[in-house]
Amino acid sequence: AHKVDHDYDYLFKIVLIGDSGVGKSNILSRFTRNEFCLESKSTIGVEFATRTLQDTHLTLKDLTVKLVDYVVLHLTVSMTFKVEGKTVKAQIWDTAGQERYRAITSAYYRGAVGAFLVYDITKKQTFDNVQRWLRELRDHADSNIVIMMAGNKSDLNHLRAVSEQDGRALAEKEGLSFLETSALEAVNIEKAFQTILTEIYHVIS
Ligand code: GDP
Ligand code: MG
Repeated sequence: AHKVDHDYDYLFKIVLIGDSGVGKSNILSRFTRNEFCLESKSTIGVEFATRTLQDTHLTLKDLTVKLVDYVVLHLTVSMTFKVEGKTVKAQIWDTAGQERYRAITSAYYRGAVGAFLVYDITKKQTFDNVQRWLRELRDHADSNIVIMMAGNKSDLNHLRAVSEQDGRALAEKEGLSFLETSALEAVNIEKAFQTILTEIYHVIS
């Protein structure tokens, strides 16, 4: 049989979900490009980037923009990591704003082994909607999917509407990992990705 050579041992698809405006796209760009955008716009197209994470040394290896679908657009960023000696390629999917219209399709969830479920600590409604996103995952994603819940915008503590304890309690009740993050101040972003990748690795291997 023809042997296909991959430059990785595992490929993990991870989806970003949560209400519009909670900071999903900025979490991803903070992680992949160390950028933060004050006025985020949806990008038309699909983006592929490769980054190699070796200890603390990060390099952006490749970035090309391609239009792949006329109707449903997703932003996909691929990065390569070392997890316990294995090379893991993480393909992280972001929406192009479909969550605003509750129009995320099942193709978005198909094959996902991890999900980042993001809410905004300054907007109670986005936290209440976590249940709706969990239902969406139950309906469309694999039942073994590893979920990391992130209470984002932790830099806006003076506007906080959801306590860290309430976040942690919900995570415990639903069996999710939990961190408060700030895409603006780059707090816990690396840790959140490292945690989910390591957990997925332990589930899969
Ligand atoms: P998305 O709709 O979930 O993808 O959210 P975006 O990433 O587009 O962010 C929505 C808005 O929240 C933008 O104006 C961002 O600048 C802002 N934002 C995102 N993350 C943070 C954060 O950690 N702290 C603060 N203060 N603002 C944030
Ligand atoms: Mg977005």
